Amino acid sequence: MKKQIEQLSAYQPGLSPRALKEEYGIEGELYKLASNENLYGPSPKAKEAIQANVDELCYYPETGSPLLKEEISKALDVAPSRILFGAGLDEVILMISRAVLTPGDKIVTSEMTFGQYYHNAIVESANVVQVPLQNGHFDLDGILAQIDNETKLVWLCNPNNPTGTYFTHEELTHFLQNVPSHVPVILDEAYVEFVTANDFPDALALQKEFANAFILRTFSKAYGLAGLRVGYVIASEEAIEQWNIIRPPFNVGRLSEYAALAAFKDQAYLQSIQERNANEREKFFELPQSKHFYPSQTNFIFVKTDKPHQLYEALLNVGCITREFPNGVRITIGFPEQNEKMREVLQQFEF
Ligand SMILES: *Cc1c(COP(=O)(O)O)cnc(C)c1O
Repeated sequence: MKKQIEQLSAYQPGLSPRALKEEYGIEGELYKLASNENLYGPSPKAKEAIQANVDELCYYPETGSPLLKEEISKALDVAPSRILFGAGLDEVILMISRAVLTPGDKIVTSEMTFGQYYHNAIVESANVVQVPLQNGHFDLDGILAQIDNETKLVWLCNPNNPTGTYFTHEELTHFLQNVPSHVPVILDEAYVEFVTANDFPDALALQKEFANAFILRTFSKAYGLAGLRVGYVIASEEAIEQWNIIRPPFNVGRLSEYAALAAFKDQAYLQSIQERNANEREKFFELPQSKHFYPSQTNFIFVKTDKPHQLYEALLNVGCITREFPNGVRITIGFPEQNEKMREVLQQFEF
């Protein structure tokens, strides 16, 4: 076995609703608000697409998800040769790390961000530099200062999971102007569809100027298809060609491709999800207790407290499973009735 794997552990899911009910003696429904899924689910058209294609299950999917690639290519105005799909972004992050990193290489990212950048870098025996956040925000200047000749990948998560914060178009432009053009800067935009801020980066536009800026998007969050596993990267043709060698031939399932295609075409549904989420998000930020939250452009809110376990348990008692961190609790914005219950808990909680 690779020696470095000893310092990692397999992904630890939270307790299941059933296990939690038993442990805490809870009666009634428990809602999973721990992984930033979209509880409204996908467009009805995605479900129709699955039903319409269910008799094709005995066949392997078409390699490389060509129909979905073509649709996204047209809508975003990027060549199909610049798009690569994975079984979720998790697999995209794995493929990029595997293709690029050799022992002793360095990646630069932030502390308290998506864990898979770190995890996959360690598997490849690379060194990881995690620059501290500044009040919940990525410290782009701090990251810039860490980039050197050994740096092979820079991972930026915008908006950031788990804090929900973002950096602006101007800040990203300044950053890209200062990164050597041979260093890939990977922008994980898993939550981009929830963003309402006007100064959020237009990463596709910046890509025209900075060929080393690569973009990650997923169908798992706003599109409501986490169960089907579809994510993609938009990068240079050269990079995609190399990374595609790592891709398992049939990594994205047949029904996953069709459902994602139908969901992607239904932008009106996506828009309604964005609006519902923004309305509900706003109600949390109207609370006086919002001084304990990091600002959020996503479908989750990070609540800062030095008593995270107490807050987690109080939320569990009203039927909401959230995610506990050493310095706070991340709650996924759910249906209005659950959000209301969570706000009541927050209003009574002694931070
Ligand atoms: C959820 C998430 C992912 C992984 O998404 P999948 O496409 O479901 O693998 C990647 N990055 C961030 C920041 C996420 O929050």
